[in-house]
Amino acid sequence: MSRTVLVTGGAGFIGSALVRHLIHCTDCRVVNVDALTYAGRLESLHEVAESPRYRFEHVDIQDTSALLRVFQDYSPAAVFHLAAESHVDRSIDGPLDFVRTNVVGTASLLAEARRYWSQLHEKEKRDFRILHVSTDEVYGSLGSTGHFTECSSYDPNSPYSASKAAADHFARVWHRVYGLPVLLTNCSNNFGPFQFPEKLIPHMILCALEGRELPVYGDGKNVRDWLYVEDHVRALLAVLEQGRVGETYIVGGDAERQNIQIVHAVCDLLDEFRPRGDGLSYRSQITYVEDRRAHDRRYAIDATKIHAELDWRPVESFESALRRTVQWYLESQWWWEPIRAGTCGGERLGVVA
Ligand code: NAD
Repeated sequence: MSRTVLVTGGAGFIGSALVRHLIHCTDCRVVNVDALTYAGRLESLHEVAESPRYRFEHVDIQDTSALLRVFQDYSPAAVFHLAAESHVDRSIDGPLDFVRTNVVGTASLLAEARRYWSQLHEKEKRDFRILHVSTDEVYGSLGSTGHFTECSSYDPNSPYSASKAAADHFARVWHRVYGLPVLLTNCSNNFGPFQFPEKLIPHMILCALEGRELPVYGDGKNVRDWLYVEDHVRALLAVLEQGRVGETYIVGGDAERQNIQIVHAVCDLLDEFRPRGDGLSYRSQITYVEDRRAHDRRYAIDATKIHAELDWRPVESFESALRRTVQWYLESQWWWEPIRAGTCGGERLGVVA
């Protein structure tokens, strides 16, 4: 696809993986629209920053006049919308930032996208797409059986998931009321290189290396489905290129794991790659801490629709991808050390007093 695409949140974890993929594996011109919050890291884009097909726009998606200028300047054929406040524990500490970016910011982007799209010529208008990237957390908690599907009802249990749920509803409404060619994805937990170290896997890797306790919430038996970030990127491209406008696609890795199983797997890989000096396993650093308030027990994904309609399936196995991820953190101190010294020192977030 030789065309210009906007990626909002392209300096974040998934957004930067998408930008790298678009530059390395397609001939698209890519405009990264990002406000560079604590989670936005231009260092994650160092491989592509010099590409003549890459541009960065330091823009907050709540700023409609800046968005208007970006749409006018670049005339994109498509938008991948990933900009968000994304960390559940931070949403418990500061919910209004999540409402501002995830709800007001998404509605602002939809409004400016519509204004731009409505003025396009017939062919460009027919071909334009905007993909709203969301999470499986909007569906709330499952019991020990069952899976989320595109028909599951919304039942969010954190300020993060409530704000993403609201954004999803607005994205659908902009399609239903104004005809804007919107598609949606709801994906399970991602992991991989360049993930901000507040999230479970990098948090555990860095705490282990620093000789700190590995804090596991509650009994550690909360279950999530896990997907390697590059598989998610391939799913986003498949949905944008072949998905049916107005539809939602649930995306998952068919890799349900309890949190404690994830922490054990990380410890075992570190024991192999960088054994502790005293001969003990990193598992000896695990401690159970007070659970997160309203912590969803289990998420699981039935990804039949995207398998059947778009022939998308994860390429990576959970085990090989986790191995690569742990190796990447061991080799990439240049990326995480400044973060560790700055805004994310590994302290506990999201405790309700
Ligand atoms: P992230 O926190 O790593 O990155 C978010 C990016 O958005 C950052 O670069 C940040 O600077 C930018 N941003 C934040 N507020 C902004 C604003 N007001 N204007 C412009 N840019 C802003 O997030 P992520 O993990 O890469 O997630 C990306 C998207 O995917 C989010 O919408 C998230 O809800 C969704 N998602 C994430 C996961 C996951 O496991 N990480 C799973 C499913 C869906």
